[in-house]
Amino acid sequence: MASQETAGHKYVYDFAEGNKELKDLLGGKGANLAEMTNLGLPVPPGFTITTEACQAYLATGAEPAGLGEQIASHLAALEAGMGKRLGDPHDPLLVSVRSGAKFSMPGMMETVLNVGLNDESVHGLARQASGINSGGGTNSASGTDSADAAGADRFAWDSYRRLIQMFGKTVCNVPGEEFEHALDAAKRAKGTANDLDLDGTDLRALVEAYKKIFAKHTGRDFPQEPREQLDLAIRAVFESWNAERAVLYRRQERIPADLGTAVNVVAMVFGNLGPDSGTGVAFTRDPASGAQGIYGDYLANAQGEDVVAGIRNTVPLQELEQLDKRSYDELLGIMARLEEHYLDLCDIEFTIERGKLWMLQTRVGKRTAAAAFVIAGQLVDEGLIDLDEALHRVNGAQLAQLMFPRFKLDHEFQPVAKGIGASPGAAFGKVVFTSARAVELAAEGEQVILVRRETNPDDLNGMIAAQGILTSRGGKTSHAAVVARGMGKTCVSGADELDIDVPGRMFTVAGQIVREGDTVSIDGTTGKVYLGEVPVMPSEVVQYFEGNLDPAETDDVLVKAVHRIMGHADAKRRLAVRTNADTGTDAARARRFGAEGIGLCRTEHMFLGDRRELVERLILARTEEERETALAALLPLQRADFVEIFREMDGLPVTVRLIDPPLHEFLPPLEQLAVNVAVAQERGEDVAKEEALLAAVRRMHESNPMLGLRGVRLGLVIPGLFAMQVRAIVEAAVECAQQGGTPKPEIMVPLVGAVQELETVRAEAEKIIAEVTRGCGVEVLIGTMIEVPRAALTAGQIAEAAQFFSFGTNDLTQMGWGFSRDDVEGAFFWRYLELGIFGISPFESIDRDGVGRLVRIAAEEGRAARPELKLGVCGEHGGDPESVHFFHEVGLDYVSCSPFRVPVARLEAGRAAIETAGSDSR
Ligand code: PEP
Ligand code: MG
Repeated sequence: MASQETAGHKYVYDFAEGNKELKDLLGGKGANLAEMTNLGLPVPPGFTITTEACQAYLATGAEPAGLGEQIASHLAALEAGMGKRLGDPHDPLLVSVRSGAKFSMPGMMETVLNVGLNDESVHGLARQASGINSGGGTNSASGTDSADAAGADRFAWDSYRRLIQMFGKTVCNVPGEEFEHALDAAKRAKGTANDLDLDGTDLRALVEAYKKIFAKHTGRDFPQEPREQLDLAIRAVFESWNAERAVLYRRQERIPADLGTAVNVVAMVFGNLGPDSGTGVAFTRDPASGAQGIYGDYLANAQGEDVVAGIRNTVPLQELEQLDKRSYDELLGIMARLEEHYLDLCDIEFTIERGKLWMLQTRVGKRTAAAAFVIAGQLVDEGLIDLDEALHRVNGAQLAQLMFPRFKLDHEFQPVAKGIGASPGAAFGKVVFTSARAVELAAEGEQVILVRRETNPDDLNGMIAAQGILTSRGGKTSHAAVVARGMGKTCVSGADELDIDVPGRMFTVAGQIVREGDTVSIDGTTGKVYLGEVPVMPSEVVQYFEGNLDPAETDDVLVKAVHRIMGHADAKRRLAVRTNADTGTDAARARRFGAEGIGLCRTEHMFLGDRRELVERLILARTEEERETALAALLPLQRADFVEIFREMDGLPVTVRLIDPPLHEFLPPLEQLAVNVAVAQERGEDVAKEEALLAAVRRMHESNPMLGLRGVRLGLVIPGLFAMQVRAIVEAAVECAQQGGTPKPEIMVPLVGAVQELETVRAEAEKIIAEVTRGCGVEVLIGTMIEVPRAALTAGQIAEAAQFFSFGTNDLTQMGWGFSRDDVEGAFFWRYLELGIFGISPFESIDRDGVGRLVRIAAEEGRAARPELKLGVCGEHGGDPESVHFFHEVGLDYVSCSPFRVPVARLEAGRAAIETAGSDSR
């Protein structure tokens, strides 16, 4: 900072000195005004005060040395160019003082217009407006006949009152409503509701009233000295960087807090000088659909703020052709020029002052997800950009948006509650409160929404049967959210306005009672909940990925664009993309979506439903014989599961993880069992089995089950369990191979923290593999998850016993941070996000500095010990766009994610490859 404060540092740039690459220094608006100036487009003259000046001001509370002088000399140049002096009583130059940060923060910071007006120059402005002084400057281009003296007088006093109002509010914190009240009072006195009915005399009186309000709140008169007005306005724009709403916006949009804003000082041009003046916005293509054409709005005889205030209705931009053909044609020419120059959709703000067109702003315009793909594709067709650039301009979040069905919300549907959009999509159905009922109704062909306080593994069947899941508790990594995302099923979690009464089969929301069987609609993107059935439209992009829409045949421009860009991403990416799938159906869908194998097949889901009883028998076994019988009963069922999956993924690697969760998760909850036993005893019934179960549940109870007897520890403690699973996997592979398939099984051991654990499991597994394969050509890899911090830190040792690592970043995040993934999001993440401790949940996007460092260390040390070690990730982060870039950088071989996120991961892996300089080919 010190060097910037030396008098020699350049803090002010004339528009002619900048260009569009200087956004860091000049902000987006300043850089683009400079670019347009240098293109020779009609930009009102002006200069930009840099973000560095703002940073220095915010750090010290004072303008950096030299800034005042630099402003003076640029102002002098501006005055010379315009042939007017700022605030000259006879022929004033007026300027606007506008904020403009590197990233657009619409409406978050301040702007002051008409700086330079005072009790004297207001008369000079009236003379200018009536044409008396129209020798040069901004209003020289057209005739001087359009404003009569009364109109000019009105215009000048209206401009002055706008200055006092904006300056008072923005620079001196005068409560805005006081000005509004005075304006309303003036209109009431005149018997009108329309600002335009106030004449010069009314507005002059209003200026007096405004000045009194100003003096009352600030203890001083409204500053008459133009340069003082300018300096105070610049200072206010600097300070607006730290206004509460700006701080909040930055946090939400993840814009760094230390960038600061630039300030643009621009000669005023007026769109409110009569019917031959006006203001408008324009887009070079439709920002909603991407379609080519002229899109925009125009408002005659108005300033930009009138458009925002919505006082009068704008007309479609095309109507400008009738109103002012010359300006319209010029604008169209400029729009074409800007697109050619920026090679992208531009949005534009312009003003026409008495028939003379002025460009006030342009930037590469925001657009919907669909428009992003369509426009990128069009620009490639037009030869303006190449496919790398097209890929760079779209992202996974946009693709994800396009993959979910949407509500058609053009009706008068109002949400009754808002939770967390936990798994996107739009679903409606009859409310049910238990999984059993969900399954029952679904079997009868009904669409249902499963409503729970929170879900648990027991709800799996209900979740599968339901169209969507709605919970009143839990965040984005709650069981409901994670499982629903995995299934691609719509879920709203944490809708805490819902008061759910499960036994009563009803919930109350917004004073209404919703009973089982009533219909609700849930939007998993916005988290909104509606009563009744909101119509849903399917996603054409999913139809395409499913193979139901041929991009060569369809007229759908979006599908064509997605197809083309995905193809390029696949050609460029180094990371392979696998899927997390536990069923043949999921595996098949993921394959259609482009998955190149399974990175995580969780086997615990295979122990639920009607197999639960067999698991109970295993847990309760008192003799070796009983245990072996239970395992023997499970073996063929498991084998059949794996055969189905290997078939769907034939020729591609399938990583099967041995059972991970604590076994008591497969038994009924302790409280429920205790009650059942007590009630049955009371009735004198035979409770021997329930008592045995209860005793087992008590025995296995853990205070911290996630840190308890699970993962590899189970395999080492429960004899035969892992062996049964290994046998089932290998037998399934052999069966597939014998039928002509090419199964590629990979056995993965969960929760390893020490190489000895892995070595023990591996020794047993290798024996089974040798025995079952008997040289039939099926190769089985053995590897481990890296999901315990100790495993990451001893990866060099563990790699000696592992053919692959798969990072379980869910557990690694849980254990790295030391917080429970099932509990914390609802409990305190909101506060952490508010305080900026993290910008996004580390369960959603990888924490690069902490958990990411563990991944990096393990990848490096693992590869150093075993260069051919295969590295992948199968935690939720494998489908998160930001995290995919990180895994690319760290050098993993693949990411694995839920089937619906496979296309997103493919796209982002492609983007990561083109964005990382020097990335090599796969
Ligand atoms: C993980 O921990 O990242 C993982 C994939 O395993 P699970 O979520 O099943 O614990
Ligand atoms: Mg895990």
